[in-house]
Amino acid sequence: MLIVQKFGGTSVGDLDRIGNVAKRIAKTKDKGNDIIVVVSAMSGETNKLIGYAEHFSKTPASQEMDMLLSSGERVTSALLAIALQDMGYDAISMSGRKAGINTDGKHTSARISHIKTDNMKKSLNEGKIIIVAGFQGITEDDNVSTLGRGGSDLSAVAIAGAMGADLCEIYTDVDGVYTTDPRIERRARKIDKISYDEMLEFASLGAKVLQNRSVEMAKKLNVNLVTRSSFNENEGTLITKEENIMEEPIVSGIALDKNQARVSLRNVKDEPGIAAKIFSKLAENSISVDMIIQNVGFDGTANLGFTVPENELENSKKIMEKLNAAENLEFDSNIAKVSVVGVGMKNHSGVAGTAFTTMADNNINIEMISTSEIKISMIVDEKYSELAVRSLHEAYSLDERN
Ligand code: ADP
Ligand code: ASP
Ligand code: MG
Repeated sequence: MLIVQKFGGTSVGDLDRIGNVAKRIAKTKDKGNDIIVVVSAMSGETNKLIGYAEHFSKTPASQEMDMLLSSGERVTSALLAIALQDMGYDAISMSGRKAGINTDGKHTSARISHIKTDNMKKSLNEGKIIIVAGFQGITEDDNVSTLGRGGSDLSAVAIAGAMGADLCEIYTDVDGVYTTDPRIERRARKIDKISYDEMLEFASLGAKVLQNRSVEMAKKLNVNLVTRSSFNENEGTLITKEENIMEEPIVSGIALDKNQARVSLRNVKDEPGIAAKIFSKLAENSISVDMIIQNVGFDGTANLGFTVPENELENSKKIMEKLNAAENLEFDSNIAKVSVVGVGMKNHSGVAGTAFTTMADNNINIEMISTSEIKISMIVDEKYSELAVRSLHEAYSLDERN
């Protein structure tokens, strides 16, 4: 079997842990498997490097950020290869470039265009264990690129797809995908199997256990994806096609995204074209707007509010100030998005009612709402967001039954 194993930041968080990961890889190799390993930077490393850059500039050039951030993953891949070699295994580390990960030129959130598999195939044929530095690739102009935060998951899935791996295992610091973040609700239940679509919704709404683009890619390339703990032997969660899942619950889980910020425009001119102007300017700057509300116009003006990722707030501020489309601008990063997710919701009524009643019972004000066939999202004050998650988890009877 060809297996791709990805180890996240906590799993390679210190030298002892890198040693343990080496032992785990050796065990898989001893069973006769071919292995490609993908690693993250040691936990905290990427944030530390971002901090270093911010010491010099609030808006560092993204090309330089990629040069800087990609170094974290290279450190881990080399250390892991050294550890395995010392144990007598033939291992080789590869940068994203050597592994053939070609991307577009959008620095800090590059997309993989194709993978040139020659080097990986050659090393596998020689019986080597390959250790790829995750999160990075190479642009057409030969510059290092990175794939966005959490991007090592994407490296692993893309490599598994390109190499036709039998299995892609994402090793992390929890046993799999839970009904909600087990660090917020300890009664959360591990999900044994989840469909690509549901996992994609979960990941897009803030469950960072898998990066959302990696789930999208797994679905597209039909990659057998499992997420499990690197600290025990427990079976993890299988992410698979919908038809492989016997019964889908109405609500599968609750997601929380604290990386949200709100922009409010008071007294915007109530005339055609104003929204187009605001949102096309944001789009031009690659800022993804999530929820939008506009109240009914009064006295020739209206109020408009929308949410953006927290790390885009500074940019959004600048753009709004320059546009000068409203009398008054307000910015708030102390908000969070709480979402109820479930593919089974499609065929049931009353799901949204339960969410709103639960929030009311807990005296939590809902500032914005958006719904789709398979999710209900609410913007709330960040202070109350974990309480909201726990209350909703209970209201939909997701707590572990014992
Ligand atoms: P890694 O460094 O291994 O990539 P991450 O920190 O990116 O790990 O993702 C794992 C974390 O995701 C867990 O520690 C957990 O707190 C968080 N998480 C959020 N939502 C969920 C969920 N629904 N199920 C499991 N973990 C979740
Ligand atoms: N080290 C990168 C990050 O912290 C990528 C990853 O861990 O997946 O975002
Ligand atoms: Mg991650």
